[in-house]
Amino acid sequence: MTGPNGPAEAVTEQLRLALPEEFSLDLPARGPVRFVVERDRRRRTRVGIVIDPAGFVRMDAPTNAELEEIREIAREHARWISRRLSQLGELGTYYVSPGFETGELHHYLGAYYSLVLVRHHGEPVIELTDKSLVVTMADHDADAVKRAINDWYVSKADELLAQRLEHFVPLLPFLGDEVPTWRHLYMRSQWGSCSSTRKISLNTHLMKTPVELIDYVVLHELCHLKHLNHGRRFYSLMDRHMPDWQVKREALNRWMGVLSD
Ligand SMILES: [Zn+2]
Repeated sequence: MTGPNGPAEAVTEQLRLALPEEFSLDLPARGPVRFVVERDRRRRTRVGIVIDPAGFVRMDAPTNAELEEIREIAREHARWISRRLSQLGELGTYYVSPGFETGELHHYLGAYYSLVLVRHHGEPVIELTDKSLVVTMADHDADAVKRAINDWYVSKADELLAQRLEHFVPLLPFLGDEVPTWRHLYMRSQWGSCSSTRKISLNTHLMKTPVELIDYVVLHELCHLKHLNHGRRFYSLMDRHMPDWQVKREALNRWMGVLSD
């Protein structure tokens, strides 16, 4: 980099971008809450406050804002943040359905990506970069963008859910050697199901949640192929293959919001 910012300053900025910046604040009626600072080169002045579904607060800040300055902004908004966290907590979820304009946060495998809409003719193309979900398409109407993103999750689910099922087959001898009949679809009230005809259905919305939570649902449905109920033997089978499944079930509850996307 040349110009008014000398090379020394460029190095400092690079270092700052490479280190994760975090702090914790005691919020009224809440206790310690984790704040994660995200540096955004395109931001000039304003600091954005975003409640992440995982229960922490993200501070979107321009690259040159001092950490102390960001912390002060968080302190000034402590009451609002605390109220927002409780509201989301009461709904049993920290997840809020995103909109479909540039800057909205969309989730993929538990991480969030900022939506970037690029206008171009032809079939929609969707790419995941480090921080962004880049959607290139002609029509930026919210419904059209939503359809394109939903289709993208479907194609990702085709691959990943198949791969997770394959992962468990050799670990569960009662399955024989074959991946059971399965499908995935967008469902509004359940993460997965197993029918009496031994067909497994998984929710495509799972693609927004972390892989270990997807594994919990996949294993749960696979165990139903041995015990088609939630009896003692079903749970001891779960215990054997995923000792911490109850922790995962609880974590998945925080993602309930994705079911109404
Ligand atoms: Zn079940």
